[in-house]
Amino acid sequence: MSEDSRVSCTVDLDAPGKRSGYLNVPWSRDDSAWGAIRVPIHVVRGGEGPTVLFTGANHGDEYEGPIALLKLVPRLDPARLKGRVIVLPSMNHPAAQAGTRVSPIDDVNMNRCFPGRRDGTPTPMLAHYVYHHLVSRADVVADLHSGGKTLDFVPSVTMHELDDPALMGRTKAAIVAMGAPLALILEELDSAGMLDGAVEDLGKMFVTTEFGGGGSTTPERVAIADRAVHNLLCHLGLLDEAPLPVAAPPRFAHTPEDGYVISDDAGIFEPLVELGAAVGTGQPLARVHFFEEIGREPATYVAPRDGFLYSRHFPGLVKRGDCLAVIGDDWRRG
Ligand code: ZN
Repeated sequence: MSEDSRVSCTVDLDAPGKRSGYLNVPWSRDDSAWGAIRVPIHVVRGGEGPTVLFTGANHGDEYEGPIALLKLVPRLDPARLKGRVIVLPSMNHPAAQAGTRVSPIDDVNMNRCFPGRRDGTPTPMLAHYVYHHLVSRADVVADLHSGGKTLDFVPSVTMHELDDPALMGRTKAAIVAMGAPLALILEELDSAGMLDGAVEDLGKMFVTTEFGGGGSTTPERVAIADRAVHNLLCHLGLLDEAPLPVAAPPRFAHTPEDGYVISDDAGIFEPLVELGAAVGTGQPLARVHFFEEIGREPATYVAPRDGFLYSRHFPGLVKRGDCLAVIGDDWRRG
């Protein structure tokens, strides 16, 4: 599956030891005729063992993943590592530089363009390299997300429901071991082109996260991300160290299809429920206030089902079509 790419890598991905360098994504443009985007990459290869690919900033306004990965790299010692770790702390580097979800260069959402295109604009060209040259080397891919500027989440490690029961079981064990407060099976609203499906279709283990959101972070959420990264490497046997302790085993939940609440209105968003709180069917979750129309009553949005508030819209203003809330519920299947 390794195939020709226009992207090159300045480090040897396969030799033993520890190296840092760049993916070089050609980007000829008005202010740099022979220019390129330089995406930092780190590779640490120790003894026999699996290869784990960590990616942060697939969306450029999500911060816990990049912070945890930038802290992980200096700690990794090839002499004590059983396997190989490949780290892209800011995979969608132009978006991370701009602090935006999608790349400002070509307006492409990196997590909607996998497996990428060799001759695409810079974002699909980079995705094509990641898929054909990094995912191809990996046994496990951990793509670390948060909610970005427009969503906020109960910190969670997530996966999808998989057809292969053995892979499903191994992935469930891994997300529980990562030790976030919530381990969750995510039902996507729109999954075409995600790194998730591209990896899962190869029969490889894929885990992802929603550590927080709002376009920033907190010490508590960074600590959850640090623990998730460390504990995954311990769980997979790459680090012969103790996993970081958790206060309580994670709640195992999912996002049912009928748990998404989409706004039909534009106005000021008033949250009525704290993240993580239990909700019952019909309970008001949020109001939208029509501050431009004198006397118009606010619109109230209610919980479509029982569960808990897993995610909410973050900015103070909401538009028609925005995701207002996502209700999670306990996973009751095997
Ligand atoms: Zn994301």
